[in-house]
Amino acid sequence: MSLLVVGSVAFDSVKTPFGEREEILGGSATYFSTAASYFTDVNLVAVVGEDFPEHDINFLKSRGINVEGLERQSGKTFRWKGEYGFQLNEANTLETHLNVFETFRPTIPQSYSNSEVVFLANIDPELQSEVLRQVNSPKIIACDTMNFWISGKRESLLNTLKSVDVLIINDGEARQLAMEANLVKAAGVIRSYGPKHVIVKRGEYGALMFNSKSVFAAPAYPLENVFDPTGAGDSFAGGFLGYLASTRNFTEASMRQAVIFGSVMASFVVEDFSLNRIRALDYEEILNRYREFKRLTHFEDAGDIFNR
Ligand code: AMP
Repeated sequence: MSLLVVGSVAFDSVKTPFGEREEILGGSATYFSTAASYFTDVNLVAVVGEDFPEHDINFLKSRGINVEGLERQSGKTFRWKGEYGFQLNEANTLETHLNVFETFRPTIPQSYSNSEVVFLANIDPELQSEVLRQVNSPKIIACDTMNFWISGKRESLLNTLKSVDVLIINDGEARQLAMEANLVKAAGVIRSYGPKHVIVKRGEYGALMFNSKSVFAAPAYPLENVFDPTGAGDSFAGGFLGYLASTRNFTEASMRQAVIFGSVMASFVVEDFSLNRIRALDYEEILNRYREFKRLTHFEDAGDIFNR
């Protein structure tokens, strides 16, 4: 099943307590499509400027990502600058330069229009809606957003959410969007906006998936070395939707497995700056970490402990 993603391709400047990097490859769609490329075919829609190097496009192609929808426009590529404190859970955005994104209107190539799974990565919610007008009834539409759009374009975002099946969002943003401090209540409020499933990413504390019937909790992988959390959310979404697209199965059981594959991909990406750790994973590494997640959360039933 093919997977369409629309989002940013960017140069990031990132400072964490463990180091600093300037103008490294980033962007929501870049992280998403690289993570998803281990599971399924990915159709990428984004825009870059004249300054975007051919070798980065070749990297995306080398992962089998379809870049027919990656436009090059005159001007500079989107740039984001952020820093993280010792509490690595949330980035503090220092600069956002939309550059070519300011005038970008996504055009979905004809060859992409039947994509059955769609991910609206973190971009202007008006552009997200424009994408949905161009696709032919996908089986599942998922979406991400961030504080920048929740406060800046709330009405457009609420409009996009009416058509979304799964919202993948971090905890701070979920609280901000729902205007509700309690996460369980916040997920309920967000579901009333449209999405049937709400996945709340909680950084080093894992992720929660809410729907009308159940809540599923996944831990984060207990890593000793976390260098740069940038891209964890998008790589999570890439693993999650990549797995769902590859199995063509959207049952509760499959969605739970997808949450773990999302967590696996996020756990790899934070081990290094930019996409360095997920450029060339092997399938065995991915599967081994999936199995470690299973062991991490396995415990036996308590049986008849109080009747012995
Ligand atoms: P995350 O997975 O949430 O850590 O997202 C990281 C990526 O989001 C970075 O590589 C940034 O380039 C990108 N990003 C940050 N701000 C924005 C924005 N306002 N619009 C689109 N992409 C953004």
